[in-house]
Amino acid sequence: MPLSIDDARLFSEIEVLATFSDAEAPAVTRIVFTPTDLKARAWMKHRCEDAALTVREDAVGNIFARWDGFDTDAPVVGTGSHIDAIPNAGKYDGVVGVLGGLEAIRALRQNGFRPRHSIELLIFTSEEPTRFGIGCLGSRLLSGVLSAAQAKQLTDKQGATLDEIRLGAGFENELESVKLPPAYYKAFVELHIEQGPLLEQQKIPLGIVTKIAAPASLRVVIEGSGGHAGGVLMPDRRDALCAAAALILEIESAARTSGAVDTVGTVGICDVFPGAVNSIPSRVGLGVDIRDTDLCRRDEVIQKLEKACRSIAFARQVSIKLEPLNADAPAECAPAIVEVLTQSCRNNNFTFLPMVSRAYHDSLFISRIAPVAMVFIPCRNGYSHRPDEYADPQDIARGTLVLAETLAELAK
Ligand SMILES: [Zn+2]
Repeated sequence: MPLSIDDARLFSEIEVLATFSDAEAPAVTRIVFTPTDLKARAWMKHRCEDAALTVREDAVGNIFARWDGFDTDAPVVGTGSHIDAIPNAGKYDGVVGVLGGLEAIRALRQNGFRPRHSIELLIFTSEEPTRFGIGCLGSRLLSGVLSAAQAKQLTDKQGATLDEIRLGAGFENELESVKLPPAYYKAFVELHIEQGPLLEQQKIPLGIVTKIAAPASLRVVIEGSGGHAGGVLMPDRRDALCAAAALILEIESAARTSGAVDTVGTVGICDVFPGAVNSIPSRVGLGVDIRDTDLCRRDEVIQKLEKACRSIAFARQVSIKLEPLNADAPAECAPAIVEVLTQSCRNNNFTFLPMVSRAYHDSLFISRIAPVAMVFIPCRNGYSHRPDEYADPQDIARGTLVLAETLAELAK
């Protein structure tokens, strides 16, 4: 019997979840551990319990909804994503992977499938960095990429610590207990909107992710010498912004000449001090983001950046300090899961595009402890993190079907 996805139920649930929002519709704002987020979590847990799943939460609020397999000692097959949303976001980012994952499980159960491996839906806490300044908080703790001690240092903009906030939200266990035991997962598969334009442009309904790129972010502080814009003549200047300009172009050039289109370099922050039209910039702070699917290539760009800092500092007589903020390693998706996804697409005559995830996701961190893969569906104009984010119901249903068949194959 072919699997049937109850798309009407799935779409109505996406609409209902979007009503848990601190922004006016169609925008969605759902920041982790706010009253709105807690209501959305409660609603999600009810949906999972209605589907006869066993629900538990860990100390940081990751929600696990489990369909027990008949071999309870076998490692788990996981799926899931996040339901938190940055201010003024849309309805689909993360949500498609959570409600699509739930629908996939319901479809399998209704079809009479009995999993050998338990299948677990995971709703990750705070994939978005909005509240604590760090993305993928839940999956970093689950995988041990972030230690409990490091997590305890996190605060929100009001200075409240993660511990204070999570305890206030009712999550009382020790953060140390969040990390999953080794070999917990047999496999983990995440369904997500693409958040880019390629699938739509090429009219391909599904993307199978083979690699997840990861950013390194760095802060650069350049100190020169200020002064009156009229009074200090050009030969005597040590202009921090001119040095920054030279450095920004070096970053662009290093990314462009890496030899791969997957290398990207961006300077998205440029703070100029004192910031007056008649004053020579004495200090500039830059925020740099360099990403790639290949760690060595990304590190080469960082090395070129370091070299450029030294030569520009010397040539322009300024001081340049480079501070790495984070440098997560990119991940390769597991070929065995990619193959299962590919077979499902072929069996259903769905065309698909092997692709790179240029945004990062919880799967990046779960890849440190389990084989992972991701399925992408198109989103209109590639828009995401904005109220007009949109995914076509047909595409969501197709992605959910492929997810369901893949979970079944992995769990049998
Ligand atoms: Zn997301």
